[in-house]
Amino acid sequence: MDLYEYQAKELFTKHSVPTTPGSVCTTADEAAQVATTIGKPVVVKAQVKTGGRGKAGGVKLADDPQDARTKADAILGMDIKGHIVHRVLVAEASDIADEYYVSFLLDRANRTFLAMASVAGGVDIEEVAATRPQDLAKVRVDALEGVSVQKAQEIVAAAKFPEAVADQVANMLQKLWQVMVAEDATLVEVNPLVLTPDGKILALDGKVTLDDNAEYRQSDHAAMVDIANTDPIELRAKEFDLNYVKLDGDVGIIGNGAGLVMSTLDVVAYAGEEFGGVRPANFLDIGGGASATVMANGLDIVLNDPDVQAVLVNVFGGITACDAVANGILQALQMLADNGAVLDKPIVCRIDGNNAVEGRRILTQAQHPLIEIVDTMDGAARRVAELAAARKAGK
Ligand code: GDP
Ligand code: MN
Repeated sequence: MDLYEYQAKELFTKHSVPTTPGSVCTTADEAAQVATTIGKPVVVKAQVKTGGRGKAGGVKLADDPQDARTKADAILGMDIKGHIVHRVLVAEASDIADEYYVSFLLDRANRTFLAMASVAGGVDIEEVAATRPQDLAKVRVDALEGVSVQKAQEIVAAAKFPEAVADQVANMLQKLWQVMVAEDATLVEVNPLVLTPDGKILALDGKVTLDDNAEYRQSDHAAMVDIANTDPIELRAKEFDLNYVKLDGDVGIIGNGAGLVMSTLDVVAYAGEEFGGVRPANFLDIGGGASATVMANGLDIVLNDPDVQAVLVNVFGGITACDAVANGILQALQMLADNGAVLDKPIVCRIDGNNAVEGRRILTQAQHPLIEIVDTMDGAARRVAELAAARKAGK
């Protein structure tokens, strides 16, 4: 889960990372009130989960509460790269002598953590990385050793921070690493990390990604989910404990095992080219069990997506054999029908693996009007793409 800047800064404050005080607001009046409380010039910042807010006009300084109201009014409702601004952070404005960049991230490709730092901060760091990579230091951080004083100094030296701020930046890096570990984050980024004219180092912006796999031991994190801006189908899938990601195509995909589901997405996208660019509507991995209840939950999620025109169930029977899966599919459709669901979308089933012949026999014998059985993955992908295109054209 990516956090908003104000949430990232709440975590910073919790872990004693120096930042500027402020509050998040939903109205211009509130922004004026917060500015009054702060009693100094403020910065009004759009809270959207995308970068480049400054360039887009979503970050504005305000001298007094009336000015804060005006600036908040201008920023609220703004569209920044497709994200509508519903909230602004009003924080004490800071004077800037210099802008730096620091981050920690999970470097999956190299199976380690990485610290990145640059004295060329404040600007688009991807551009620095692309045009002058020598100005972006990268230092590996061992997960078990973490960021000791020595490691922090190594990062500071690699990025060539000025001597005068070296100790402060090193200290900041240790605290940011603490955020990384204690909050189970996969990314902690500060851009800009600023040096104020009176010599202080502050996190002026914050970007944090939390590791969803650690939810079970991070009970505070659930409150950070922005329910109003989360896809309602994804929320339901989460309630069912299903591994679901919404995509923008027309074919609902259900499979067991992430690898199988991913390759199913590929073959459907490929087969769909022939039918005017039909594409997968979601990723849904129902896991190893594939029981009737899990299958019913999965079908419920996928069939309720208005974008879905047809569904492909692609299951490889293992410990749960194909006959159990076939019965699961039939029972699932019965459960949904009993609950009053409107079932009118074709479902192509490809089941293979343990007891495949018996599984297919059960499905064939049931003669369910929505179910079609196709024995191969490519054939099933082609058929479901064809059905999705036809249903879409018929609407
Ligand atoms: P981003 O553009 O989405 O990364 O948003 P940032 O929070 O990084 O803000 C963009 C830029 O606005 C920063 O690089 C600063 O130059 C400027 N800025 C943000 N906060 C302040 C502040 O308190 N004082 C001043 N003078 N400039 C600020
Ligand atoms: Mn920034």
